[in-house]
Amino acid sequence: MVGKMSASDAGHAIAPSGVLTIDIAAIRANYAYLKDVSQRPVAAVVKADAYGLGAGIVSRALLLEGCENFCVAHLGEALSLRAALPETSRLFVLNGILPGGEAACAAANIVPVINSLDQLRRWADLAAALGRVLPAVMQVDTGMSRLGLMPEERQAAAMLAASGRIELMFVMSHLASADAAEDAQNGAQLGEMTRALADFPGAKLCFANSGGIFLGPAFHGAMVRSGIALYGGAPMGDRPNPMQPVVRLDIAVIQTRRVAAGALIGYGGTHVAQRPMRLATLAAGYADGLPRTLSDQGAAYFGGQRLPITGRVSMDSMVVDISALPEGTLKPGDYVEMIGRQQTLEALAQDAGTISYEILTGLGSRFARRYPGMDGVAVSEAK
Ligand SMILES: *Cc1c(COP(=O)(O)O)cnc(C)c1O
Repeated sequence: MVGKMSASDAGHAIAPSGVLTIDIAAIRANYAYLKDVSQRPVAAVVKADAYGLGAGIVSRALLLEGCENFCVAHLGEALSLRAALPETSRLFVLNGILPGGEAACAAANIVPVINSLDQLRRWADLAAALGRVLPAVMQVDTGMSRLGLMPEERQAAAMLAASGRIELMFVMSHLASADAAEDAQNGAQLGEMTRALADFPGAKLCFANSGGIFLGPAFHGAMVRSGIALYGGAPMGDRPNPMQPVVRLDIAVIQTRRVAAGALIGYGGTHVAQRPMRLATLAAGYADGLPRTLSDQGAAYFGGQRLPITGRVSMDSMVVDISALPEGTLKPGDYVEMIGRQQTLEALAQDAGTISYEILTGLGSRFARRYPGMDGVAVSEAK
């Protein structure tokens, strides 16, 4: 069910333990859809290697959709990505710059999100030293207590920003509950954002993440930022997901066996076979980003059949119950689906007691990666 193997060992093609298929055409379609819904420029959030999917390749694909703005979390990520983007693309560092990183940031044409007065002073000092006007985004805390200026710091920041050394591109904040439209925190943050904007006359607003895009025009500001929705995750919590799925994950079957009633399965012997069972051992575990919390919780799929994870998830393998499949259906070297048509990313995350973001960013480096839909994006640069 998967094609020619890409991994090779001394010239011999070897079967990968798992295949992660990343549909680049779907990412592009999701980008176009988010632009359409928001009627605003959409900054692509490609932090954490584009949520584990490959920041370089995802960014180059989005350039073809006209994306001009990219966000990462750390300066190190921005420095790695800068060369993959045209000079004209804007690259923002959401977490701001740690002391000492300012010169490297300015030299690489990277825009910091300023999260404190201290960061703003250092950025303005560098601008003065260079005799330049440096661009910046000002983040204000509207109720998440994570990053950004406190309300009482806004006036001082606005004065510094107006000193002629800083080009204030956006005033920004981040929504804590955007995936839950009915949550009162959204309205409260919007109210605080409105008060913050009054402290920065003429500034443009950048507020919504993926979820915020679906909260309506009041949240859209001048530019929105999207990560999870680009990658097919559900932006509206439990509501129907309008995004196209992007990720498929297939895991190889290592071996199958038959066990008698009473057999202990996996570490700790936590699962005792209640009847004779047929089992398959899969070539992925928690070291590949399939959390141990899937033990006796989640499932893989094959031919429409749910194959429950049985016993604890190991580091490099897990056991699934294949008793429901006709004997001989599943053989070593076959692949079962962990994420895809039969099991969404959200469903897997829910079984693991986590969110799609954590599953995506944790998917391991041991899987082979396929990037269909790469027309016009250089495959050789795929990372
Ligand atoms: C990660 C992040 C985003 C992207 O959020 P999604 O919910 O994935 O769209 C946007 N803004 C900030 C500040 C972030 O940290």
